[in-house]
Amino acid sequence: MNINSIIDELSLRIDKNRMIPDAQMREYTSFKTGGTAALLAEPGNVDELSHALKVLNKRGIEHMVIGNGSNLLVKDSGYNGVILRIGKPFQEIDITGERMEAGAGALLSEAASKAGNASLTGFEFASGIPGTIGGAVFMNAGAYDGEISQIIESAEILSADGLRTFTMSKDELELSYRHSILQITGDILLKAVLRLTKGDNEKITARMNELTARRNEKQPLNYPSAGSFFKRPHNNFAGKLIQEAGLRGLTLGGAQVSSLHSGFIINTGEATASDIINLMEIVRSTVYEKSGVLLEPEVRIIGD
Ligand SMILES: Cc1cc2nc3c(=O)[nH]c(=O)nc-3n(C[C@H](O)[C@H](O)[C@H](O)COP(=O)(O)OP(=O)(O)OC[C@H]3O[C@@H](n4cnc5c(N)ncnc54)[C@H](O)[C@@H]3O)c2cc1C
Repeated sequence: MNINSIIDELSLRIDKNRMIPDAQMREYTSFKTGGTAALLAEPGNVDELSHALKVLNKRGIEHMVIGNGSNLLVKDSGYNGVILRIGKPFQEIDITGERMEAGAGALLSEAASKAGNASLTGFEFASGIPGTIGGAVFMNAGAYDGEISQIIESAEILSADGLRTFTMSKDELELSYRHSILQITGDILLKAVLRLTKGDNEKITARMNELTARRNEKQPLNYPSAGSFFKRPHNNFAGKLIQEAGLRGLTLGGAQVSSLHSGFIINTGEATASDIINLMEIVRSTVYEKSGVLLEPEVRIIGD
């Protein structure tokens, strides 16, 4: 891949200052480890994002949109493609009545807090999820009996080829447990329209504080991770199965099955992506041997 020629073509729209060759992906992911991406670009608006998609598709170059990188692990060998990071320029949040429009790059914590300040209830569940609106819709993120599907009304989408924008209704997004149609089409979320309801500001704040306290108590938040590493198996819990398989605290290199929450794999400081992936495989095969359940990773693993 000729990076300089790609940068030249992308820079017809995107400022070169917002393009980083050989980007260290540990700086853009919550696991704080992993290899480089051949190029990371941060489009400044929809037009720039659309230009980038057209160029990359035309040239047949592998690429991926990311948000806050809190559900992402890049292999140590790196990603030989272009990462399009949806960040600050896409963070706008507007509230009118009970309707919130939130840009793909807006952080869930920020959106939840703005909802609370406007005495709107419904978003409390997401206040401690360290992702963006885009990543949350893509994953149908959820916690504590809430999930994005309960509050989203529609979404503004850019097609994967960068050629058109259109609106998708909640039904068209096909949201189910940690799934949306975006995982199949590769289309990109630009903005979500969320429907909240009037509530009591004090109760909303109290609920968010309660959920934060529960996270602080039950999750190893002082170590880098990507949250629960595995999806919840049908009628069961990954953490419970991992614990029952005797894997709590299991360590490989710098990666560890958290002793606080066995569903988390944490980076104790010097973990490589390979440590994490190898530990994940041991967990999967051991849990399968002991319980017959094959755990499926929730974390997206990319790279060569
Ligand atoms: C400590 C911790 C706790 C967590 N707790 C929870 C939890 O309670 N519940 C939960 O569901 N998750 C949880 N997570 C996981 C993660 O925060 C969520 O999955 C979050 O929604 C990911 O958002 P992101 O912006 O970081 O996405 P990224 O990690 O950047 O990307 C994840 C996927 O989304 C896609 N994507 C990102 N933006 C867009 C877009 N605009 N359009 C299309 N696709 C896009 C990417 O291509 C990628 O495949 C936790 C993570 C951590 C580190």
